[in-house]
Amino acid sequence: MNYVDDLDPTTIDAILITHNHIDHTGLLPKMVKQGYRNPIYMTEITKELLPRFLMDSADQQEDNAKYLQDKFPGDEWKFNVLYHREDVERTINLCHGMKYQKTVEILPGVKVTFFVNGHILGASMILVQCTAYSRKPLNFLFTGDYRLKNPFYEVPELPDWLKKMELIMIHESTYGTTDSSNIKVCFKNHLLEGFERGQDILIGAFAQARMQEILFELKKMQDECLIPEEYKIYVDGPLGIKTNLAYEEILKTFNPVNSNFMPRDVQIVDPKSREKFFSFEGKKILITTSGMLSNGPAKIYVPMFLERENAMIHLTGYAAEETLARTLLEAKRAETVHIGSKPYQKKAVIKTTREKTSHATRDEMLGFINKFTNIVFLAINHGASEVESNFVETIQTQCPRIQRVDILNRDYVYCIYQFGNKEDKFSNIIVKRMPAKMQILSPKEKSYIKQKQKRKKRHEEKLMRKAAKRKSKQNNQF
Ligand SMILES: [Zn+2]
Ligand SMILES: [Zn+2]
Repeated sequence: MNYVDDLDPTTIDAILITHNHIDHTGLLPKMVKQGYRNPIYMTEITKELLPRFLMDSADQQEDNAKYLQDKFPGDEWKFNVLYHREDVERTINLCHGMKYQKTVEILPGVKVTFFVNGHILGASMILVQCTAYSRKPLNFLFTGDYRLKNPFYEVPELPDWLKKMELIMIHESTYGTTDSSNIKVCFKNHLLEGFERGQDILIGAFAQARMQEILFELKKMQDECLIPEEYKIYVDGPLGIKTNLAYEEILKTFNPVNSNFMPRDVQIVDPKSREKFFSFEGKKILITTSGMLSNGPAKIYVPMFLERENAMIHLTGYAAEETLARTLLEAKRAETVHIGSKPYQKKAVIKTTREKTSHATRDEMLGFINKFTNIVFLAINHGASEVESNFVETIQTQCPRIQRVDILNRDYVYCIYQFGNKEDKFSNIIVKRMPAKMQILSPKEKSYIKQKQKRKKRHEEKLMRKAAKRKSKQNNQF
């Protein structure tokens, strides 16, 4: 899908980024490569974190393309990178850091405000307010990926004026079928069991947020004297290690009480000595990237841990299909698992937990949506397709105030009309869904749009006549 070009970046005036996750930022350098030259807005913290993740994305694409080109000779042309490091550099130069809760007019009639979001450090929900002529404004709230709590900082309650505002909300649905009660809190207990059995423990973690949260939890366990002395904590993964440092720096100003989250005596593994890891001192707790184990140093460590009787591999997040994490979860004990082209026998225990999620669960999302009293249109995105449709049904039954809900889909565009005037008590918003590619409109749809345009023109003329009448009346009074 990343190769699809159904959008001309040169027609875009501004881009707003809710947070630094690659599924939200990863195509920016491609857009810049294709001619995008306008500002990209995000919070100051996201601006700080973004560059190394985009650079990493460019590097990983080069590695993956090379690997696939070697693997499928004759089909090399199919595996191209989307962009290079130079495109990332140009992208970084277009980024603007914004303060939380400060409204800024980024284009004539377009104001944006970034609100604190607990999803990851620097994440935001973005309010976009558009005003044209004498009409009432159209307000959009993009939740981004969100959660209302975060281990490193408090998420303040959203202001009342926002909850009462007439809104078009674009809302995520990742956990649209999972309630908080379905998520078992077990990570700490798994570790305690592992310590009791004397297991060496590998913890797979995403470089951002997950790795820092796990380190923070280990620090708290150290403070409670729950980690036996023979255990040593090791960290590997260049991007994760850099992000640990960035988190410490950012938290020093953003929320200093938690800036000191690193456990005592953490050792960073030198990439050159990874193969010798088991000759290092002590029983081991190793936190390494990537979260789904298919990339980064995990590729080297997993085979080493997998074939040990007394070892645990702990996953801490979603394991997508065709990743090493998923393969390990699905394999039975003593089964042979292929990593790369080599076979390994699965002897280690594989554990997983969803408790470290950075997304809101279904009950949390419904609670959040129901705080808003005036959502005219709720657009759902960011979920597996069956989850999205299930979540829409839930909203229809449990959020009685929502006037309309729909699933956002790349095949459609939404035209949103605001007919209400500033002085009107009630607004008059009409939302129309149309195919994204106008050339595939049927004659019936085309004539519908024409009629609509005519009607709109008539309506506007009527408004103008009314305004003129009002003016002449006022003049007569004088
Ligand atoms: Zn995210
Ligand atoms: Zn996301």
